[in-house]
Amino acid sequence: MNPIPRACVMGYPVKHSRSPMIHGYWLRQLGIAGTYGLEELTPEAFPEFLTHLARQGYVGGNITVPHKQTAYQLVDARDDAAQAIGAVNTVWLEGTRLMGGNSDAHGFIANLDDRAPGWDLTNGHAVIIGAGGAARAAAYAIVQRGLKVSLINRTASHEEELAQHFAGSVVPAGGFDALPQVLGSADLLVNCTPLGMHGKPPLHVDLSPLKATAVVYDVVYVPLETNLLAAARARGHRTVDGLGMLLQQAGFGFEKWFGARPKVTPELRALIEADLVAKR
Ligand code: NAP
Repeated sequence: MNPIPRACVMGYPVKHSRSPMIHGYWLRQLGIAGTYGLEELTPEAFPEFLTHLARQGYVGGNITVPHKQTAYQLVDARDDAAQAIGAVNTVWLEGTRLMGGNSDAHGFIANLDDRAPGWDLTNGHAVIIGAGGAARAAAYAIVQRGLKVSLINRTASHEEELAQHFAGSVVPAGGFDALPQVLGSADLLVNCTPLGMHGKPPLHVDLSPLKATAVVYDVVYVPLETNLLAAARARGHRTVDGLGMLLQQAGFGFEKWFGARPKVTPELRALIEADLVAKR
């Protein structure tokens, strides 16, 4: 008889992670005998742990801060998204080979498709604010749908570096001063910075140049409605919050480890929303 499949999230710190709640919900809902736990691993302990994941009794797991780049280096092979984004957040075993993937791009786009169908207009133009890991995943996903991206970031060198990575499809706009200019032709505006998150300063953007049809997406999910989304909603734009991205990206790993495709249900969303509110 096969042993019960076990997966976990590896990070440092990791206790705040909602992943066990999400995967636990799906395991119960689908009646799968499996487990999903937490592994708090220091940067010193992580490489040895990941390299011998099967020996620890795991079939795979999620990788979170600060181990995503280390995991990228350590896996035996990467999927296209991980390769393009430069970070691994999901690992699984294929025989004895440790595979690495990145589900953030999948989560980003699945959430957008779900919440704002038809957003991916032919010859469309997206504006992304930020140039870190989330921006990289968003840029990868949006470019794959054929839209052009203008990038706005505080640090010019990071803006240029990310744009160069997706040369031809992502253009460095030239920092926050260029925002009013690029917003006028935007069909999608995405915040990929922590600005607007609980405990951080708000993100102030004058949305008046935006077309009425433009969609506004914030990857931040605490609070669910950031000041950016509230301002966009008040102007009548379609808005997309970051919680759906978190939920949608989790399904990628679940299917790899437990062999079934889970659904992001209103019940799951309500469960995580309630936990976010309770722990604020
Ligand atoms: P990251 O790699 O550290 O990048 C942070 C980005 O935000 C950088 O571009 C940074 O600009 C910019 N930034 C930070 N503080 C700023 C400030 N005070 N003013 C202007 N720009 C600032 O972080 P990340 O992993 O991309 O995560 C970004 C946000 O996305 C976080 O809030 C995270 O929780 C969220 N996220 C959500 C999901 C989801 O599933 N919903 C997934 C991933 C991430 P510089 O280059 O100038 O430093």
